[in-house]
Amino acid sequence: MNLIQENSQENVLDLAGLGIGPFNLSLAALADGLPDYTVQFFDRKPSFSWHPGLMLPGAHMQTSYLKDLVTPVNPTSPWSFLSYLVQHGRFYQFLATEKTAISRKEFVDYMDWTARHLPSLQFNSEIREVSFADDCFILHSDRKTIRARNLCLGTGKAPHVPECTKKHMGKNCFHASELSARSPDLTGKKLAVVGGGQTGAEVFLNALQGHWGEVSDIQWISRRPNFEPLDETPFTNQFFTPGYVDSFYSISASKKPAIVNRQKLASDGITPAYLTELYRELYDRTYLSDSRQPVWGLLPDRTLEGLNQSVNGCYELILNNTLHDQQERIKADIVILCTGFENKLPQCMEPLLPALLLDESNRYQLTSNFKIQWQGPEDRKIYAVNAGLHSHGIAEPQLSLAAWRSARILNDLAREELFQINDSGSIINWQPASHKFPERSCLP
Ligand SMILES: Cc1cc2nc3c(=O)[nH]c(=O)nc-3n(C[C@H](O)[C@H](O)[C@H](O)COP(=O)(O)OP(=O)(O)OC[C@H]3O[C@@H](n4cnc5c(N)ncnc54)[C@H](O)[C@@H]3O)c2cc1C
Repeated sequence: MNLIQENSQENVLDLAGLGIGPFNLSLAALADGLPDYTVQFFDRKPSFSWHPGLMLPGAHMQTSYLKDLVTPVNPTSPWSFLSYLVQHGRFYQFLATEKTAISRKEFVDYMDWTARHLPSLQFNSEIREVSFADDCFILHSDRKTIRARNLCLGTGKAPHVPECTKKHMGKNCFHASELSARSPDLTGKKLAVVGGGQTGAEVFLNALQGHWGEVSDIQWISRRPNFEPLDETPFTNQFFTPGYVDSFYSISASKKPAIVNRQKLASDGITPAYLTELYRELYDRTYLSDSRQPVWGLLPDRTLEGLNQSVNGCYELILNNTLHDQQERIKADIVILCTGFENKLPQCMEPLLPALLLDESNRYQLTSNFKIQWQGPEDRKIYAVNAGLHSHGIAEPQLSLAAWRSARILNDLAREELFQINDSGSIINWQPASHKFPERSCLP
């Protein structure tokens, strides 16, 4: 796609992207080289990064490297992970690692390499306000005004923190996404890690291994009934296919929350490899080591219900042991919240909010092609990525279908099949019997 001088009044972008996380980066990478459309993407960051606060040692991807920014819909794109390996002269060396899951560090390097080559990306560009006038969206940043016929919102999610911790947030009680920035010194401290997903596991193990200094005591608290694995088995992986997303989209909205909840471990569990590594570490420390430091505890089935702070700064966590219906109290000097992320409407969209169709939980109402339903002209579209867990299902916040979703958006924008997306078959019949399935070919 072409670039234009965004300050010129007569020039209006076909598409402006807000935010350059992996999802809008995928859109930019697929759009690169397509003629006839002018696109630009904006991010407040100085350069590409991906959850930098959580780039912990040993962190690995939960998705295949083939589910990169482009490959599932355009395997010949120059911006594939395989192309990155070839350009960096390490294709054969990479294959010899026999890795199925690569490190987050390597995937970030791949995305950063892509970002550095795409001319349609502008960093150091925070969009402060978006309005609509003269048949155009008007994006205001500190330095310029950008006009665009269509938008794609890719501003990500906001850290979720439990209500009872909100008034304590600061140096010694913080969300895990701030870990790198805070670089805490845990030497001799008591640590409470709250949250039983992948991030909780990574923070617990790194703290145990002294990554932030020799901690004296670590307690790992989880609402879940155990420290549970990510389900990566073949039938569960069907949830991360285009066919399943289309089927999920078509079911009644009232059924969707319960289904998404049931599928939690398909995306929010701890990778089995990481659980094994963690278990072995705890086994060695328990049975094969003379040192009993640090003291540690695994506390599943506990919900954090209250947090008090004494005058000396020490925290008291009030836990509800849901298995035994008992209250428990533990002490900590530092509390790290590995409590995930939540939807947040970007503040810059406030002027347009009255025209957007939102549901009772303030979530966008999305069409199957990821367009927000709104009261503006039909040929002026607002797409949103990572905003449709409630409508499109469990794959929405994951990388698995990012390239497919980008292709759907670009096809919709262009009103033609720029990308052939015919990978919608399924070996499970999700649709009712009355639904016509695409023909499958039989081997002779
Ligand atoms: C630690 C971690 C590991 C993960 N690992 C995996 C994995 O292995 N596999 C998988 O499938 N999924 C994974 N996920 C889930 C998902 O892939 C990520 O959350 C992903 O970052 C979502 O991408 P995004 O583009 O929606 O948002 P983000 O990555 O959050 O990017 C949003 C961008 O928007 C910018 N922005 C926001 N507002 C503005 C504004 N007003 N103006 C300009 N810029 C703005 C921000 O600066 C940011 O760069 C992981 C998530 C986390 C937290």
